[in-house]
Amino acid sequence: MEQKDVDGFVERLKERIDVLYVDRRGRNASVRCPYCGDSQKNPMSAHLNIRLKNPEFLIWRCVRCEAKGAVSPDFVRDLRCFDDGALRMAHANLSRARKKFRPKTGGGFHRLKLPIHLDRDACRRLGYVEDRLGISIPPSKAGLNYSIIADIGWFIKVNGLKLEEEPKTIKRLAREGIGFLSSDHSQLAIRDTTGNWKKRYYACMLYGEDPFSNSLFAVPKEVEAMTERVILVMTEGAMDLLGVSYHILPDLAERRDVIFAAAGGKYFASALKAVRTRGFLNLDVRFYADAEVGLPFFRWLKREDSLLKHEKIEVNYNSIGKDFGMKREEIKLRRAIV
Ligand SMILES: [Zn+2]
Repeated sequence: MEQKDVDGFVERLKERIDVLYVDRRGRNASVRCPYCGDSQKNPMSAHLNIRLKNPEFLIWRCVRCEAKGAVSPDFVRDLRCFDDGALRMAHANLSRARKKFRPKTGGGFHRLKLPIHLDRDACRRLGYVEDRLGISIPPSKAGLNYSIIADIGWFIKVNGLKLEEEPKTIKRLAREGIGFLSSDHSQLAIRDTTGNWKKRYYACMLYGEDPFSNSLFAVPKEVEAMTERVILVMTEGAMDLLGVSYHILPDLAERRDVIFAAAGGKYFASALKAVRTRGFLNLDVRFYADAEVGLPFFRWLKREDSLLKHEKIEVNYNSIGKDFGMKREEIKLRRAIV
C-alpha cells in the first residue's frame, strides 16, 4: 500500500458514502460510525476517524464509542460501501495490518493464567467490587468465574507481560486498580478502587496497540454451541454485567444457552458482531443499558442489523440509577421492547 493507494481509497469511499470529511493536512478522514450510529441529532456529524498517513494509515477509531480496528473489507461493507476497488484495497490493508500487528500480539489469541489465591491487598480490592454491588465473590472464583484480576502485579509477572506503561504507572494501577480481563485476553479494563483517578477506568493493552483486539468482557461459562437459539445478555461494562447476573438474572447464570457479555463501551453493534463471529447467529438479545443510551439508539441498531431487523429486542434500564453496577436495592427495572 502506498500513499496514492490510500488517496484512491478515500476517493472511492467519498463517491459511495454521504458524509466524509478529510482534514486540511490530509491526515484523517472522518465518517459516521456504523457501530454506535453516531450523532442522532446531527446527521452530518462524523466521529469515526480513519488515519491516512504512515505509519498507521488505514487504522480507524471512533471517538464517540471507542470502537477501533484496521480498515478491512468488513469495515468497508459496514460503511455501506460495496465498491470493488475500495474492497480490494481494504483487503490489502488488512493483510498489511496483520503482518504488522499479529506477530507482536501473538495472532490475537492468548490464554493467560488467572489467579486462584488472593493475598490480603487483592482481597481488599475485590472487596471494593463486592461493596459496590452488595454481593460476595469467593476469592478463588473471582478470576476463573468472572475474569476479575484483583492482583494485577501478580498477573503481569506470572504471564510475563511487557506493558508499554511506565513502571511507576504500572505500580499504581496494580496498587489501586482492579482489572476485568477481555474475553480475548488482550486487554484489561482497570477500575479505580480509590476514587482518586481522573477517569474511573484505565484501558490497558496487554500486547501493545492492536486493532484486532476487542474489549468484549464475558462471564466465562459453558455455552452449548449447537443450541438453536442463544440468549445474549449484554451490558455496557463489566460491573453492570456482574450486577445483572447476580441481581436480576441469577436463574440464567447456570444455563448453557445463555451468554453474558459486556461491550466494554457503547459500541454494542461491534460487540454483537464479535459474538456472532463465534458462531452464534440466532440470538435473543437483551440489553441492560445505561440511562444515556436511549431507545432511538436501539431502534437504529435494529434497523441497521440484518439479523435483528425482524426480531424483538429487549432493552432494560435502571430507572433509579444510571446503570446496573449497583446494589440490588438501587436497581429498579424499566423494560422496553424495540
Ligand atoms: Zn462509534
